[in-house]
Amino acid sequence: MAKEGHKYIFVLGGVMSGVGKGVVTSSIGLLLQQKGYPVNLVKVDPYLNVDAGTMNPTEHGETFVLKSGLETDQDMGNYERFLGHDLTDGDYMTSGMVYQSVIARERALEYGGKCVEAIPHVRDEISRRIKAAAEHNGSRISVIEIGGTIGDFQNALFIDAARMLKVRHPDDVLFVMVSYLPVPSTLGEMKTRPTQHAVRELNSYGVQADFIIARAPQPLDARRKEKLAISCNVHADRIISAPDIKSIYEAPLNFEKDKFSDALLSALNLPEKRRASLAAWRKFATAVADAKAPEVSIAIVGKYFDTGDFVLSDAYLSVIEAIKFSAAKLGLRPKITWVNSKDIERGDAKTLAELAKQQGIIVPGGFGESGIEGKIRTIRFARERKIPYFGLCYGMQLMVIEYARNVLGLKDAHTTEIKKHTVDPVVDVMPDQKDLLADKNYGGTMRLGAYPARLKKGTIARAAYKKDLVEERHRHRYEINPEYIERIEKAGLVFSGTSPDGVLMEIAELPRAKHPFMLGTQFHPELQARPLSPHPLFTEFLKAAVAQKKRK
Ligand code: GLN
Repeated sequence: MAKEGHKYIFVLGGVMSGVGKGVVTSSIGLLLQQKGYPVNLVKVDPYLNVDAGTMNPTEHGETFVLKSGLETDQDMGNYERFLGHDLTDGDYMTSGMVYQSVIARERALEYGGKCVEAIPHVRDEISRRIKAAAEHNGSRISVIEIGGTIGDFQNALFIDAARMLKVRHPDDVLFVMVSYLPVPSTLGEMKTRPTQHAVRELNSYGVQADFIIARAPQPLDARRKEKLAISCNVHADRIISAPDIKSIYEAPLNFEKDKFSDALLSALNLPEKRRASLAAWRKFATAVADAKAPEVSIAIVGKYFDTGDFVLSDAYLSVIEAIKFSAAKLGLRPKITWVNSKDIERGDAKTLAELAKQQGIIVPGGFGESGIEGKIRTIRFARERKIPYFGLCYGMQLMVIEYARNVLGLKDAHTTEIKKHTVDPVVDVMPDQKDLLADKNYGGTMRLGAYPARLKKGTIARAAYKKDLVEERHRHRYEINPEYIERIEKAGLVFSGTSPDGVLMEIAELPRAKHPFMLGTQFHPELQARPLSPHPLFTEFLKAAVAQKKRK
């Protein structure tokens, strides 16, 4: 269990969802880390799915895969990006996960014949997990984001677990409520009432907020700060203004204007260990927001667009962020165009014209049949017109299929994910996946998490990474069929990265002499791209993309 005196900060949402609890949690993590404290960030998702791997990205956004292979919520990606280090399994929990272990214990007679109940048994399992994560990570402070909004039925047990922790360790637990202060257009005035109600609702759980993060379209003025302080029982120094910002990476810098990290340390009774230097972060956040930087146009051709533009970017969140980090490093401003592969499949002339204007094209990860021929057509377009192309997972598999069809002349080349009995299964199910699929054993069973890849000398990949052995995160069931590798390579495609035993193809690329940048990865490089250490393959792709403009 965690050491005596370990500190816990719970982040809860008041008023409404979607106002940035994840960014607040990530920012607190970054700021306390800058103050010299090792931090771990925990996401609590109240839904019953055992992990985030079985959810449709249009429903819940991207699935973020940890190094261990655990499939988690996209917030975990933001946490890792802000902290700049890997998180572990213990840092993520869902109601499903918690209940599953309680029920397994009950089946094993571990409750000694007792009636097993939500309180105390499920609640205690939640506390046990929170403490175990703190211990496992060797951190000094845990910041735990409780998903949903105060007043939800689903997250009540988690809030109660937090309350119990406060009862047992009154000096070591803080509650940060992220609220929203609307400015109705008819009034033009910021309203504090919904926040007052949210604080009272939290009180009804036996919890008092120690901090209020005042999310709003504009900064909080002194008068409203005072009003909130008096009505919510929170000292004015602990009410932090959080106006809308251009990029989430400005959030920690903004919080420091209200001396948030000093206030947190003082509330936790911890001394400052090191003067916070946010210089590198500030430089990066400035570069990301630089509206004057030269533009680089990138199309992302995907299919998870069906519920409107907001969800669209969520489904490919890490890809967008990875582009931003490399662009910031190169002093570029990415202009991302979303292209629905189904439109290309239909041969929509406007969409094809849009595609032709791009300096770079990405086909990201995906599953299933819909839009797949559109993606293959896109890849052919990028190859023949020599537009820099970057394929991620499915985008790599389809790049190999396109090559097999149109260069090798294997007209029926396909993946058995879509066409089980195709004559040319260039992409086939991995041998150890067959039984899992037959048993409908889908949850958490893909090839998941970090695996090493060995890079071939003289290739684009090797030059980008500047090393021979890399480790990248995966999420797939299918692979390049070993039986076709020799033929594909003879036809000119190079497998520049393979598993160390040489069996699995991890990276495919065309030599520079044939194409400015045509490269696909079986893994998801976007999952390890970080603000201060952009991913070398994204950087290389963008370099090729800007060069493309100059040639035109
Ligand atoms: N559907 C493909 C597979 O399972 C690719 C997965 C992905 O893009 N993440 O292998």
